[in-house]
Amino acid sequence: MSNLGTPERPLRVAIVGSGPSGFYAADALYKLSIKVKVDMFDRLPAPFGLVRYGVAPDHPKIKNVTKVYEKTAERPDFTFIGNVTVGEDISIHEMKKFYDAIIIATGAETDRKMGIEGEDLLGSYASTQFVGWYNGHPDFQDLTFDFSSEVAVVIGQGNVAMDVCRILLKTVDELKTTDITQNALETLATSKIKEVHCFGRRGPVQAAFTPIEIREFTELADCYTVISPKHFELNDASKKELEDPANAVRKKNFEILTELSKMSPDGKKKKFVMHFCNSPVEILGKGRVQQVVFEKNHLIGEPNQQKVRGSGVTNTFNCGLVFRSIGYLGVPIKGLPFHSSSGTITNQRGRITDSEQIYTGLYVSGWIKRGATGIIGTNKMDSDETVHNLFEDLENMNACPEPSTEALLAFLKSKEVRPVSFADWKKIDAAELERGKALGKSREKFVRVSGMLSAL
Ligand code: NAP
Repeated sequence: MSNLGTPERPLRVAIVGSGPSGFYAADALYKLSIKVKVDMFDRLPAPFGLVRYGVAPDHPKIKNVTKVYEKTAERPDFTFIGNVTVGEDISIHEMKKFYDAIIIATGAETDRKMGIEGEDLLGSYASTQFVGWYNGHPDFQDLTFDFSSEVAVVIGQGNVAMDVCRILLKTVDELKTTDITQNALETLATSKIKEVHCFGRRGPVQAAFTPIEIREFTELADCYTVISPKHFELNDASKKELEDPANAVRKKNFEILTELSKMSPDGKKKKFVMHFCNSPVEILGKGRVQQVVFEKNHLIGEPNQQKVRGSGVTNTFNCGLVFRSIGYLGVPIKGLPFHSSSGTITNQRGRITDSEQIYTGLYVSGWIKRGATGIIGTNKMDSDETVHNLFEDLENMNACPEPSTEALLAFLKSKEVRPVSFADWKKIDAAELERGKALGKSREKFVRVSGMLSAL
């Protein structure tokens, strides 16, 4: 019988990743009827993962969720250990010495590739790169984006694509008080982009964005939307999809798209154009992006399961920039099983497994568990499931030999790793808010790890 979870020997859980799924996992652990001690790791000195580095700067309300996470972080039985890369500074095997259970909640750090010729040409980017750049993620600050051409193409029609299109189309005035980095703001201020063309491989009824996000295009200060009436001629299966009460969100999307298609320019200088039923085939250009070749698609299959079939008819579209936005992928962690096409750590309802074994004491939560789907709140249910299964395993869990955060910190010190505590982060946070105030912005982030550490 295990004594893990008693006041004498609290259950020690490491959570790797301090984004939404990590914090929801911590919350779920604290709601258990046992005593739990959580140490949360992040490779960056700043916590909150996707909320800080993924949510668009002009969506400040969504970022308010960090206030809830802060409450968790300030608990006495919680320790934030930032600036530590699990898998490099400390291996999973080494961590098992200090923790009874480990929950991986590292999200989806990279992107899906289209797998077409020309994808790596200069001027062709992943949305992860652009989003990371304007949000101040240290991994993307050496990138340079050339906005000297007038036409940009965004491929994919999910909410990330909507973020990318909106940021490209907003005026400086619409962005200047947000927490977009000053460098991104100044670079975008020089942008010559007049048209952003967003291409979906399926139709307007199947688009992956949600109503709030598409509705924002009705409100842009200097941009109107163009959608050809031909896109509203639906096949029978799409009509049935719209009539299905389970598809209320898609019906709303369709209504908003119809509204957008009636927009007149009203003297606005920029144009957002939506194209449907077009798959990217090839990107062309001498040294840099000049054209994208698309193949026109037909939709085939039963309602709610329609797939695309290429028509063989292609058209070539001139542009100077391409952003692919066709989904995010998780990245592997040394020592853990990984499914590369879904970008997830293989698991059964949160228990890490491969075809041969269950990895005792190792769990996964959030996008690295189920793939990059759903909104921030979706991760709550996901983390609840993982923690529920962790609790079920408690009886058979192996107690770690060194149940001490001090011992863990001493181990990191021996490796010359400089961990960042939550109190440290609050200092960085205060410095960023101060820097923002000076610029009339909600925050000016440190975009390098060295900058964050220098605030301490
Ligand atoms: P997503 O919602 O899965 O959308 C991916 C898009 O890429 C879809 O339009 C998909 O079309 C298309 N696509 C996939 N493979 C393709 C290919 N080979 N060629 C052409 N198109 C392809 O992914 P996401 O936009 O990266 O968003 C990830 C998650 O974050 C989503 O759940 C999203 O809602 C969420 N998110 C939410 C917000 C917000 O709430 N404001 C903001 C950003 C992200 P098909 O439908 O045909 O597959």
